[in-house]
Amino acid sequence: MRNPERRRAARLAAGLVSIVLAAAVARPVVHVVRTALRERGFSKLTPVWGPTDVEDISRLNRTRVRAMTRLPEDEAGAIEMLRRLLRDAKEQHLSVSIAGARHSMGGHTFTPDGVVVDMLPLRAMSLDDQRNLLHVQAGAKWEDVIPFLGARGLSVSIMQSDSPFTVGGSLSVNCHGWQNDRPPLASTVESFRLLLADGRIIRCSRTENSEIFSAALGGYGLLGIILDADLRVVPDARYRIERKLVPSPEYVAELDAAVRSGPVGLAFGRLNVTRRRFLEQAELTTFVRTSDARPGEPIVELAPWTVSLERWIFRGSQGSEYGKELRWSLETSFSPWFFERRTHRNQVMQTRVDLYENRDPTQTDILQEYFVPRERLEEFLRRVRAVVPAHAADLLNVTLRDVRRDDDTLLRYADGDVVALVFFFSQPRSEEADAAMQALTRELIDASLLVGGRYYLPYRLHASRKQFQRAYPKHETFFALKRAVDPDELFQNQFYRAYGPAPRAEMA
Ligand SMILES: Cc1cc2nc3c(=O)[nH]c(=O)nc-3n(C[C@H](O)[C@H](O)[C@H](O)COP(=O)(O)OP(=O)(O)OC[C@H]3O[C@@H](n4cnc5c(N)ncnc54)[C@H](O)[C@@H]3O)c2cc1C
Repeated sequence: MRNPERRRAARLAAGLVSIVLAAAVARPVVHVVRTALRERGFSKLTPVWGPTDVEDISRLNRTRVRAMTRLPEDEAGAIEMLRRLLRDAKEQHLSVSIAGARHSMGGHTFTPDGVVVDMLPLRAMSLDDQRNLLHVQAGAKWEDVIPFLGARGLSVSIMQSDSPFTVGGSLSVNCHGWQNDRPPLASTVESFRLLLADGRIIRCSRTENSEIFSAALGGYGLLGIILDADLRVVPDARYRIERKLVPSPEYVAELDAAVRSGPVGLAFGRLNVTRRRFLEQAELTTFVRTSDARPGEPIVELAPWTVSLERWIFRGSQGSEYGKELRWSLETSFSPWFFERRTHRNQVMQTRVDLYENRDPTQTDILQEYFVPRERLEEFLRRVRAVVPAHAADLLNVTLRDVRRDDDTLLRYADGDVVALVFFFSQPRSEEADAAMQALTRELIDASLLVGGRYYLPYRLHASRKQFQRAYPKHETFFALKRAVDPDELFQNQFYRAYGPAPRAEMA
């Protein structure tokens, strides 16, 4: 070929490559930019919190209350105020609800015309370093506990995968997180102090008031007010992050193999939610311990542009199949280049909800969680693959956690070793959408019950009374004990009214 022809052919080839590259890059860029522009019109949403009305993080249950009580920070003053409040509430036949960070979603922190106690001011903590015990007041949030422990080379033993929750709220749902091979939070509790409806304060542990210990942990604030707790803590540790794509039927075996091959300190999986490979594939992430972290190991703040980009990629998956595809391929194919490969425990546990929280005032994000025996995960997923598309629900995320048998609590969701599946849906803030979500939820609960599983209680109160009773066979013992220590049923919330001994007509 002569030179001019060769040059023309080269130009043509370069042009074609540029077009292909531009086409490959243009669509994702346009999608992310469009999401960013939509997000520019939104600001952070704070659920209504007083003086007369309240709602929780679901923003679906605005409720008028009689009064809200914010405690003073000093403990003696707070206890004095609480005792007075309990006396007055009893005299006036008012119910009392307890609120932490209000990230439960079904009115677990209030009742119509009731009194709400805001626990947030009680947030002091100290360490017994001889026994590695954290003494912490119930209103403290994990996001404050983590730096306190980190400065001493320590870390929280069991908590959620995010950190904006209070210790009291976490104990009262008996939370769990990415700590694989471990039972839920109750297993790390040495003891706690509980203020009862009659004003007495009792200490509860496995040897002292042990029945109340089992009921109040995971007891949704129905036994009394947890004032403070002694929690076992663990060393902060440095981790190497490993990621692997696995077919969903092999997830549990792959996790077990990873645990056998190295000291895994934290682990979670994320299922593919795209239509093409719906819940068929998982990305398993393990955090392999490499050494102890030093006291004061820094917790690095993400750069603002990283927060925004991650946020747009996640929020861009709402209502968009293309957005879901894009997120999955970016996070599974490119994440090793963008995300750190080394970290430490406190860094992982100090997560930021602004990476994903919904700021669209017309929408809300709803969580659900199911616990299924490890060996029946695939059977459960087969059912879910049929149920969710039939309801055309917008499922943004499903994570998998390894939770071991809970021997401590009455309302236990981990009756054996289970896989926990956290479903993250987006829905409009409307009664119709809530009713549609209820229908879907009931089918998913049935699917979990059919494989010997359970569902989690802090979210929307969509379960029927029968489903609740089947999933929590010790409910009668639990409610009997509640009535024994609180005969006037002073402590109430919407969860109690839905599933407690006095049935709400519409839930029957
Ligand atoms: C984005 C998000 C992520 C989540 N991730 C996880 C997760 O990874 N793992 C998990 O297990 N859960 C998870 N949850 C659920 C969460 O653990 C619960 O909603 C938990 O209750 C939140 O704590 P809180 O301080 O907001 O509690 P609140 O919602 O304020 O209260 C929850 C319950 O505890 C009671 N309570 C609060 N404080 C006290 C007290 N001092 N004494 C007695 N009762 C009290 C309340 O009355 C209420 O019944 C998540 C929730 C959200 C919204």
